[in-house]
Amino acid sequence: MADTLDATWAVAWINAGAEVISANRESLNALDRAIGDGDHGENLDRGFRAVVAKIADLAPAGPGEVFKLVATTLMSTVGGAAGPLYGTAFLRAAKAAEDPHLDASGVADVLAGALEGVIARGKAEPGEKTMVDALGPAAEAARAAADQGQDPVQVWAAAAEAAATGAEQTEPWVARKGRASYLGERARGHRDPGAQSSAWLLAAAAQTAKAAVR
Ligand code: ADP
Ligand code: MG
Repeated sequence: MADTLDATWAVAWINAGAEVISANRESLNALDRAIGDGDHGENLDRGFRAVVAKIADLAPAGPGEVFKLVATTLMSTVGGAAGPLYGTAFLRAAKAAEDPHLDASGVADVLAGALEGVIARGKAEPGEKTMVDALGPAAEAARAAADQGQDPVQVWAAAAEAAATGAEQTEPWVARKGRASYLGERARGHRDPGAQSSAWLLAAAAQTAKAAVR
């Protein structure tokens, strides 16, 4: 199907996501050093390297199977807050992606699932300076784009753009969840590392979707 996204795209996304995390590992560590313990890039890079090693042996029927592998691997290899949070996000995304071909509303469902997973696990609300502040706007933008009749590539593009803006908007905020919340006012002026990693992962989704469909 020309305008849906399948397992091959999902594998391409996750491999590209692993690359973007690896390339930006030090930037993510630096963001986390400013308001946390400096390990966010390291944590995610370790997790995504493990995913890449396993994904080559997978013959997935659909994106859901890929997301499930990502979920279980991140949960078992990433320490700290981000492992269980991203793990639950990908687990819920997998549940939302039952169809082997994701159309525009399927993409919106995947993002809604991921957001729901992070909220279920971490109980953060919007504006608390967490990955919810990237994933929330992304899920909303994706749903709006799908409702307007845009294709899956456009839906991912809208989500990625909203996530990038969302991550940037965390900069002036005080953090209310996670390690950064211990800093109080001193967290102001620093972008949330988890929101930034989410935005980069969604950017990889959008780029690979473009390449998969066109
Ligand atoms: P740790 O804080 O254990 O060192 P990481 O550095 O890998 O874990 O991840 C930190 C990121 O996790 C934060 O930048 C934030 O985006 C995210 N985070 C922390 N707590 C929560 C939460 N309760 N809900 C959503 N995201 C959270
Ligand atoms: Mg950390």
